[in-house]
Amino acid sequence: MRGTGGGATPAGRERWACLLDWDGTVTIQDAQVLLLDAFGRPDWAAVEDEVYAGGLGSRAAYPLIYEGFRLPAEEVAAFVRKRVRLDPTFPAFARFCLDHGVPLQVVSDGQRFYIELLLADAGLDRLPVAANNASYTASGVRLAFVEPPGGCGLCGNCKREWVDAFHRQGYRVLYAGDGRTDRCAARRADAVFARGYLLGFCRAEGIACTPLKGFTEMEVFLRQALGKDLERSGAGEE
Ligand SMILES: [Mg+2]
Ligand SMILES: [Zn+2]
Repeated sequence: MRGTGGGATPAGRERWACLLDWDGTVTIQDAQVLLLDAFGRPDWAAVEDEVYAGGLGSRAAYPLIYEGFRLPAEEVAAFVRKRVRLDPTFPAFARFCLDHGVPLQVVSDGQRFYIELLLADAGLDRLPVAANNASYTASGVRLAFVEPPGGCGLCGNCKREWVDAFHRQGYRVLYAGDGRTDRCAARRADAVFARGYLLGFCRAEGIACTPLKGFTEMEVFLRQALGKDLERSGAGEE
């Protein structure tokens, strides 16, 4: 994981890290929704809803919704490259974070495979990714969940633990997401940008959040949060 250093910070200075959901947040389209709609069992969304309605999470849902999903990895890659686009404001935001020493990490309950593929295509393969491992074969999908030590036990990759890990290092955490698997992180983060399901959830739960339109507003947020420190560390930029 990047950004674990930097302890030699003058007292009173705020340090921020940024954690981002992938599907529907960094990307316009949700790769798993597209893949399952095209190649999954026809009732996958109803099956997933039923699992969540029963008080369980993605860890229980994934093996069920990927039942019968048979598409070799090369075809998954080609499909994702053709159908999924990054938010056009994301690459500039990522460079801003990298240039200013703001740790930036993708935390996804989706699959590392297609995330790393699209990050590499965008020249951003330096970004660390925490996501589930999936191997696609013509005979089915094998999923291996991330096992964060402090997770809720319901998510495949519980994002709460990634927020807590940065808190333990003294960072405040800026988080952006859109879905059900972002709930655990949104409850813990210091600032939240949200859209879709997560925006409604935060409002219902009284979690302060800003509607997420793109990453330009998040850069503005970080520039304000980092204030004078940014002016100092960013000397010479723009
Ligand atoms: Mg999402
Ligand atoms: Zn969780």
